[in-house]
Amino acid sequence: MVTIEPELAPAPTPRPLDDARAQLRDAVERLGHDESVYAMLSVARRELSVSIPLRRDDGRVEVLTGHRVQHNLSRGPGKGGLRFSPDVGIDEVRALAMWMTWKCALLDVPYGGAKGGITIDPRAYSQAELERVTRRYTSEVSQLIGPDVDIMAPDVGTDERTMAWMMDTYSVGRGSTVLGVVTGKPVALGGSLGRAMATSRGVAYVSLLALERRGIRASGATAAVQGFGKVGRGAARLLHDAGVRVVAVSDADGVVHRADGIDVPDLERHVDRTGSVSGFAGADPLPGQRELLTLDVDLLVPAAVEAVVTEDNARDVRARILVEGANGPLTTVADAILQDAGCLVVPDILANAGGVVVSYFEWVQANQAYWWSVDEVESRLDARMQVAWDRVWDRAQRDGQSLRSAAMTLAVKTVADAHRLRGLYP
Ligand code: NAD
Repeated sequence: MVTIEPELAPAPTPRPLDDARAQLRDAVERLGHDESVYAMLSVARRELSVSIPLRRDDGRVEVLTGHRVQHNLSRGPGKGGLRFSPDVGIDEVRALAMWMTWKCALLDVPYGGAKGGITIDPRAYSQAELERVTRRYTSEVSQLIGPDVDIMAPDVGTDERTMAWMMDTYSVGRGSTVLGVVTGKPVALGGSLGRAMATSRGVAYVSLLALERRGIRASGATAAVQGFGKVGRGAARLLHDAGVRVVAVSDADGVVHRADGIDVPDLERHVDRTGSVSGFAGADPLPGQRELLTLDVDLLVPAAVEAVVTEDNARDVRARILVEGANGPLTTVADAILQDAGCLVVPDILANAGGVVVSYFEWVQANQAYWWSVDEVESRLDARMQVAWDRVWDRAQRDGQSLRSAAMTLAVKTVADAHRLRGLYP
């Protein structure tokens, strides 16, 4: 017998949205814009929440909740990932969509910001169930997405297979293959070479620049990386390849530490075998994430989820440099504490923008049906990261601001200018 048990979405987590709005408020004030600019940019342009009935493999039916938020569309189609996580709520998606707007503006990618999420723990579902969830969600939001309207990508808990299912579902509905509706697709389906490592490559690129600016040689510098997924794993690997001693790494299941430096390729083989960093023989376990975040290292890269450094632990962070691999890993209060302590914080909208840059390259390639070599992709990515870094660094030096304030000021100005030039309709 089929039973239908509607699930209520969990209470939204207000913090990331509060943090995102506080950053916007700061930028609007620095730019001398009036309240109407804040009012316009602090809310999403469009939001859609959908119910997703799912038939489980054992025949039961569950109803999940999904969202798609388009924060801003003034510079082009919406762009942003789709997250599968038990903690997803509408406020989190709103914050993530807003950060996408600033990231696209800062990197001069012709998109607005968007984000999607489904409240689900993907590890508790089979591949067949995840495929059904993805296809139903895509179908529910299909009126709101498209290569000229809003383009999805992977985020926490989703991957290139998820994007292949989305592209297929959308295309079946349209009656022809529409490659440009998602990025982060498998290369065999029009994905871009270099996309899988693009966010990590950007994180490593700015980490090395930050080390250089702080007068720390990469070879022999120490780093700790939180999260060993699409972003953290590649960042740890690239930092290791650059000679940085990666002394600690974590995932949701545990933390491993080795003062001499972890053999990251060996750890990758362990994770491929077991699914987690826990139990890795080449390092010792640490009790928890707090111990990783407060290690005495040159470089700390939180690359898991938002709000991991808060007022509760920020005073214990000892890293000289913090590069935000994740979106929103610092709360506003924690950010201020770290700035006061002299820690160089490289903000998310700059640090992890490599993914959206190569997503843009993938979309351009798909629209032209013309594919670039991996060298071409990587050299164009490096060039964009360098330009963005220089702009942010120079602005921060000129105005005596933090890198976050400089990045936000540049990004918000770009979006506010687009609004002004387009004017209000009617
Ligand atoms: P992912 O699902 O591939 O990996 C997430 C990793 O974090 C996993 O190792 C997981 O075990 C770990 N994790 C989850 N909760 C944790 C916790 N509480 N403490 C410690 N570890 C935890 O996700 P991802 O794509 O690597 O994304 C990570 C972050 O980077 C997110 O904030 C995401 O929005 C951001 N981001 C991702 C991309 C991208 O291209 N994938 C681009 C820009 C920003």
